[in-house]
Amino acid sequence: MSAADTAYDALLAHARETSLLGSTSALLAWDQETYMPRGAGEVRSQQMALLAQLQHERATDSRVDAWLATCEADPHLAQDGDRLANVRGLRRDYERATKLPARLVSELAELESKAQQEWADARSRSNYRRFQPWLERMIALQQQKADCLKKPGQSRWDALADLYEPGMNAKDLRTLFAPLREHLVALRRKLGAGKAPDESFSRVMIEEPKQEAFVRAVVAAMGFDFQRGRIDRSAHPFCTGTGGDVRLTTRFHKDNVLDSLGSTMHEGGHGLYEQGLETKNFGTPLGEAVSLGIHESQSRLWENHVGRSAAFWKWCWPLAQQHLGAACQGYTAESVFRTANVVQPSLIRVEADEATYDLHVMVRFEIEQTLIDGQLGASNLPERWNELYREYLGLQVPDDKNGCLQDVHWSCGRFGYFPTYTLGNLYAAQFAATADQALGGLSQLLERGQFETLREWLRRYVHVHGRRDTPAELCQRVTGKPLSSDAFLAHLDRKLTAVYQIA
Ligand code: ZN
Repeated sequence: MSAADTAYDALLAHARETSLLGSTSALLAWDQETYMPRGAGEVRSQQMALLAQLQHERATDSRVDAWLATCEADPHLAQDGDRLANVRGLRRDYERATKLPARLVSELAELESKAQQEWADARSRSNYRRFQPWLERMIALQQQKADCLKKPGQSRWDALADLYEPGMNAKDLRTLFAPLREHLVALRRKLGAGKAPDESFSRVMIEEPKQEAFVRAVVAAMGFDFQRGRIDRSAHPFCTGTGGDVRLTTRFHKDNVLDSLGSTMHEGGHGLYEQGLETKNFGTPLGEAVSLGIHESQSRLWENHVGRSAAFWKWCWPLAQQHLGAACQGYTAESVFRTANVVQPSLIRVEADEATYDLHVMVRFEIEQTLIDGQLGASNLPERWNELYREYLGLQVPDDKNGCLQDVHWSCGRFGYFPTYTLGNLYAAQFAATADQALGGLSQLLERGQFETLREWLRRYVHVHGRRDTPAELCQRVTGKPLSSDAFLAHLDRKLTAVYQIA
């Protein structure tokens, strides 16, 4: 064995053990949101803090730098694609972990936990002014963090956003978002002149056990492997875990089965991505998701391109009737498909429909750049927020709870995160259009419930590659084109003009 081989083996063994610690803390975090008794909060936060500290020590271990340097000096490295991808990914992780001084890391961790509690409190009272000093402190620390991370030519916001979506920057996003916003605003106006679908099915009362049996049957049909995963309940649905053990959560509203279905299919899409990663690559970059944007593309594809399609409802309607019984009387596959596609500008991002969701993201994108670069003071946040909601969504924001206090992200230090939601929508549409061509028409597959064909296509072209490519490279490789909003807008135009019966 060469010195490079020995270093590479040591590097991977070390990375795998660090990932075992990471997946253990993810499991504890899942437990905290699902089954943990209330009184266990104190010991749980100590467990989490210890695991985080151990992970950070391992991630910044100077031996990692030495192993990486030996691998990088190997003249044969470029000929081994797998090894090159792992070395590149682990180098990125190491640089990121070591750029932040330990003092800043612990200061941030403490502030994140406190500010999140203060945010929840301020939100329940709908009082932004209570939260403002905490946000000010958070912005100051995020600016310090960005200064540690930023490369020459990068803005502070870019440095933070790069943590979530490698290679993403504000300039490219503005180029991508400007025509998207214009088109979405015009589409919203156009649909206003159409025939709005009947919404009553989304308000029919259905007991939770029936809804649960129904959504489980759908996720099983999507191909989620219950031998290597579970579905439980939490206030805010999420997906965590990897490979052999994927945990999804969902929620049920007695009077909104379409919300439960959408949430479960969304998290199911995330779960299929995690289950589609190669188990043998666990703990290495090749066994990890590319980025948040690509992760979100997998959830949105199943939630929107499958779950909100006419073809899906043709297949799903008998299943819905079987599980939901009398609640389905008076409705048809066609009427429920239309109900699932109602477009209605609303104040709350997480409740937004497919055509207005991205406008919520753009408001946040505009605002957080100016907060981080200091142009907008935290004291002016509500005014700016309300102004942009009027401009982008045509809505008057009545209070902070339904305005700038609605999202948890900034309170726990996630600046630069929001655009990954919109990138997910755009990637999803571009992947779906490519799959449609490659598989000879998605509709025919979906109306027959042949989800495995789509799932295996995604697995083959996206999942199994882990972090081999950057998000931009992956998009180019899978779809043959760089990312744009074309496929997404074509998909919305085609579907919504039919739903709203606009000629
Ligand atoms: Zn998601």
